[in-house]
Amino acid sequence: MNAEAMKKVANDTQKHDDIIGATRGLNYDEKCLFDYPAADESGVDLPSLQNIKLRTGHKAREHVGLPQVKEPEVLRHFVRLSTKNYSIDSGIFPLGSCTMKHNPRLNEKAARFAGFAHIHPLQPQSTVQGALAVMHELQNMLAELTGLPGVCLTPAAGAHGELAGLMTIKRAHELKGNGHKKIVLIPDSAHGTNPATAVMCGYEVRNIPTKETGRLTLAAFKEALGDGKDVAGMMVTNPNTCGLFEREIVEIADLLHKAGGYFYCDGANFNALVGKIRPADFGVDVMHINLHKTFSTPHGGGGPGSGPICVTEELAPYMPSPVVIKENDESYRLEEDGERETSLGRLKGFQGQFGMHVRALTYILSHGADGLRQIAEDAVLNANYVLSQLKNDYHVPFEGPCMHECLLTDKLQKDSGVTTLDIAKTLVEYGIHPMTVYFPLVVQGAMLIEPTETESRESIDRLIAVLKQAAADSKAGYSEKLQKNPVSAPRRRLDEVKAAREPKLRWKPN
Ligand SMILES: *Cc1c(COP(=O)(O)O)cnc(C)c1O
Repeated sequence: MNAEAMKKVANDTQKHDDIIGATRGLNYDEKCLFDYPAADESGVDLPSLQNIKLRTGHKAREHVGLPQVKEPEVLRHFVRLSTKNYSIDSGIFPLGSCTMKHNPRLNEKAARFAGFAHIHPLQPQSTVQGALAVMHELQNMLAELTGLPGVCLTPAAGAHGELAGLMTIKRAHELKGNGHKKIVLIPDSAHGTNPATAVMCGYEVRNIPTKETGRLTLAAFKEALGDGKDVAGMMVTNPNTCGLFEREIVEIADLLHKAGGYFYCDGANFNALVGKIRPADFGVDVMHINLHKTFSTPHGGGGPGSGPICVTEELAPYMPSPVVIKENDESYRLEEDGERETSLGRLKGFQGQFGMHVRALTYILSHGADGLRQIAEDAVLNANYVLSQLKNDYHVPFEGPCMHECLLTDKLQKDSGVTTLDIAKTLVEYGIHPMTVYFPLVVQGAMLIEPTETESRESIDRLIAVLKQAAADSKAGYSEKLQKNPVSAPRRRLDEVKAAREPKLRWKPN
């Protein structure tokens, strides 16, 4: 097609869009409900009432300007919007650090049993013995898997678990007369919630540099610890956010303990270890578990999170209440407020996200010990497969095998002007959710890929093929092609910073 002809096509397309909207190929250009043209139409058309006295004594109904849209249009609007949501049910979701695995439908079936779905947290406990048994069993399973016997299920997310865990540590220090300990050691590669949690608890954060090797070293730890007198604890993710196992963690935990500090482990990456090793065995004192990551409960827009904490016997007296207690007569009950005097108290209304407890226990029981171990093994195998296939196309910042996620950067593409963002947007163009980008912060242009154990060879190969093609295009000088992506998505590149900083939360008539 010559330039003149292309211009005509573009012109005609614009005309089409102006007249009948940009809807094309079953891909709707969905307007805001308020922008429907039939502003003054009404689905129901009743005559106005005459001579009616207002019995409430309030103002008569005013025109509030709600969109007047017919039921089928409302329905279609929301159904179409729902289909624009990319989810783990629509394709691979290789978002590093997030463990976006398949949510088995068996979990959903169990959570919908009337005896679980239709109960109320204020029901007498004698009428919900089965639900309490589920929670008690989950407490036991998590204790077994982590080697940490004290379990509190109430935190509502990973970050909430961090808060619960660090408050437990703080409470222990205070009641043991160590309230002067004010410093928490955190590697510079940590998830942002770690330092945020420490600061919210009133602690001061001291960074441990890991940039050189991607791992904690004994030397760097010793330097950060100093004489350890002021150190309340450390927060470490293992495997860490670079997808690497912390090899010196046992020695580090020993030194920390000798200085009277506690080891908080961010358990977001537990999928790499579940069923294989118990975090207590490498020195962990407190750990949260993201049920919505490792234990497959719905994630992101799909459901509430759940972040139980597991603690050592020593710290169990201080953790939040309530826990579920099994009595000698085999009945179950919730611990009462104030019953455990050393507890830091409640952090959440009722008992946490019970529906997630049911799903997580179903997942654990349906996999069994061998199945859980295989989850970790397959997750690590899949990530290493991705790494082995892409290591010549992308820069690998840290040598050697990875755990359940692999870390690449855009260093080899930099000279061609192609960045991590362009590569992520190219995945969008090919219908794949991007990997985690620009995290961890210590690695420039980071791309963190976590395929999880539930992806097939076929879907992982497709991800690899698109990433290989992007690297090849960048090498061949087709940078502009990548920088324009996505070209087929309903929206191109958005100003995400502006969207986050200046959200439009109200609709105003034009
Ligand atoms: C996901 C994640 C968290 C926070 O968990 P939420 O459930 O999202 O609050 C904390 N740390 C790491 C490393 C994570 O990946």
